[in-house]
Amino acid sequence: MELAVVGAGLAGRLLAWRLNEFSKEQGLNSKITLIDEKDLNFFGTGLIAAAMVAPFTEAVNTEEVTQILGKKSYQLWQEWLPELEEQMGKSIGFNQKGTLLISHPQDDRDWQRFVIKAKHVVPEDKMQFVENEALEELEPELANSFSKGLFFANEGAINNLALYPVLNAYFARSEDVQVIENTKITVLKDNAYISELNQQFDHVFDCRGNGAKAELNQFRSVRGEVARVYAPEVNISRAIRLIHPRFPLYIAPRDNHEYIIGATQIESEIDTPVTIRSGLELLSALYSLHQGFGEAQIIDFLVGLRPTFIDNLPRIETDEKLTRINGLYRHGYLFAPALISGVLEHFKQEELVA
Ligand SMILES: Cc1cc2nc3c(=O)[nH]c(=O)nc-3n(C[C@H](O)[C@H](O)[C@H](O)COP(=O)(O)OP(=O)(O)OC[C@H]3O[C@@H](n4cnc5c(N)ncnc54)[C@H](O)[C@@H]3O)c2cc1C
Repeated sequence: MELAVVGAGLAGRLLAWRLNEFSKEQGLNSKITLIDEKDLNFFGTGLIAAAMVAPFTEAVNTEEVTQILGKKSYQLWQEWLPELEEQMGKSIGFNQKGTLLISHPQDDRDWQRFVIKAKHVVPEDKMQFVENEALEELEPELANSFSKGLFFANEGAINNLALYPVLNAYFARSEDVQVIENTKITVLKDNAYISELNQQFDHVFDCRGNGAKAELNQFRSVRGEVARVYAPEVNISRAIRLIHPRFPLYIAPRDNHEYIIGATQIESEIDTPVTIRSGLELLSALYSLHQGFGEAQIIDFLVGLRPTFIDNLPRIETDEKLTRINGLYRHGYLFAPALISGVLEHFKQEELVA
């Protein structure tokens, strides 16, 4: 069976990998063609992302489905990443130290509002109030400035900068996955014929994210900006979220004192460089959190456009020969594994990949 995955961003490359593994497990003989308008090393949205997998903190201000898909994805990352690491002999890294939520005393009203919502949405055993020593135990360097926090133990962040190249190597090694780079696919139809390749497939998966906009209804992009900093004077080991009335902020730690600081959320489809305003907001909120960030070096400011439907929820649309996975918005890492496993399950029942 000839399968095409169009778009080698987050959803597309995860899907191509899992489709191939599924095909091998089942002893099928599927051939997968993965196509992108850029090359596989292009620094796209999925690499700009902080790659946090936060089913509970993200569920507080969104729909119930966030928690359901998020929990499933968290579990799948725990299964899939070690498998890939072992197979490729490379370590990727999934920081599973949880998320610590904090706020400055002057923002107590926003804090209280968040706590009320969280109590309503998050199961009791997934959220823990921490004060003084307990907070100090989690993040000693934040205990001087903050005396209370909310800890969500079952959350984490993927090292996406390692994940992408390992998947590139996986595709390069696989006999059944062919990668076609620098090829823009403009129209995808249910007949599974891709005119740019002059090739007929048995099934096509559309994972073009923002690039599929012309063929989707009620779809937009939402601009997001992050800073990447090197802070040798800061030792924070887990994802931190700062509740703030104007500049809510997260910090996702990477190895070697690097931190991703994010993220703005702007209703704009323009991906021009980060504005002074956004840069100042991100960095001043960051500095208010830990003075050691004052001496941090800015490695980069990055901008990405999040593919988003009107309700901010993801969609899988399946016709006989065309499946579209899109609308991952700010939840690509949180949703993609759950969505992909749902797609595979569906096709197993339909015996499509047989
Ligand atoms: C600042 C920021 C922070 C984020 N943080 C997080 C986070 O912490 N946790 C989380 O879960 N999510 C986060 N996200 C969201 C996540 O990055 C996105 O949801 C995810 O990348 C979307 O995946 P996708 O595969 O749909 O699109 P993309 O990753 O954008 O991939 C689409 C691919 O399709 C290709 N393409 C487009 N058009 C065509 C065409 N015509 N022909 C061929 N190829 C084409 C593109 O080149 C690209 O490679 C963040 C996003 C941003 C911007």
